[in-house]
Amino acid sequence: MRRLIYIAAAILLSLMAGTGAEAAENDLTGTAKNVVDSAGILIAEQAEAVGEAVAEAADPYRDRPEIDPDDWMYVLANPWNDIGDYTPELESLEGQQFDVRIIDDMKAMAGAARAEGLSVFLSSGYRSYATQTYLFNRKVDEYGEAVAQTIVARPGTSEHQTGLCCDITDRYYEMKDSSLENTQMYQWMSEHCDEYGFIVRFPKGKEDITGIIYEPWHFRYVGREAASYIMEHDLTLEEFLELYRN
Ligand SMILES: [Zn+2]
Repeated sequence: MRRLIYIAAAILLSLMAGTGAEAAENDLTGTAKNVVDSAGILIAEQAEAVGEAVAEAADPYRDRPEIDPDDWMYVLANPWNDIGDYTPELESLEGQQFDVRIIDDMKAMAGAARAEGLSVFLSSGYRSYATQTYLFNRKVDEYGEAVAQTIVARPGTSEHQTGLCCDITDRYYEMKDSSLENTQMYQWMSEHCDEYGFIVRFPKGKEDITGIIYEPWHFRYVGREAASYIMEHDLTLEEFLELYRN
């Protein structure tokens, strides 16, 4: 009897061992399969990442918004781009004139800044071709043409003629020099202007591209889409528009 029990136990044990071995084998196969699968996913992910990196290197701005660079809000006036006697339809706001199409956003931006306790001062908006001619000629009489054009934009090349920009200062700090960047006003404006469609038009370090000195007071309307892209990527309007030239 005892011998029978031994035999039964031995059979049982061997059966269990068999099952165990088989299970272990299945586990191993499963693990190996998982490893191979994960490796496959990893390789696919890496390939995708490499592909993205290559595409990014080829065109780092391929995520640029789909805009029409010929739209009114992208009018480009700079030392190399004369807009002649371009005249927008104007509307007055706080003693300045602007292109009627940016009035609502300008009001909203100034209002939001004032709600933060900032003393927004709209110091200079639209300037006509005639006014610019007068200002330019006055400097020419004073210093000669070569010097004059480094101080005042030639008629047709000033962004103020587009009616799409505004010099914004603090009512209690109206200095138009680089120190304005230290005011809470500028800090708020540079952080939030894009939410209203405006950009810092003449940033520091981009003077060669804009042709204009750093001007922490000069804000330009380009619409929300372009504004957030330009501010996020530290671009100038010139660089942004160049992305659409091919
Ligand atoms: Zn200005």
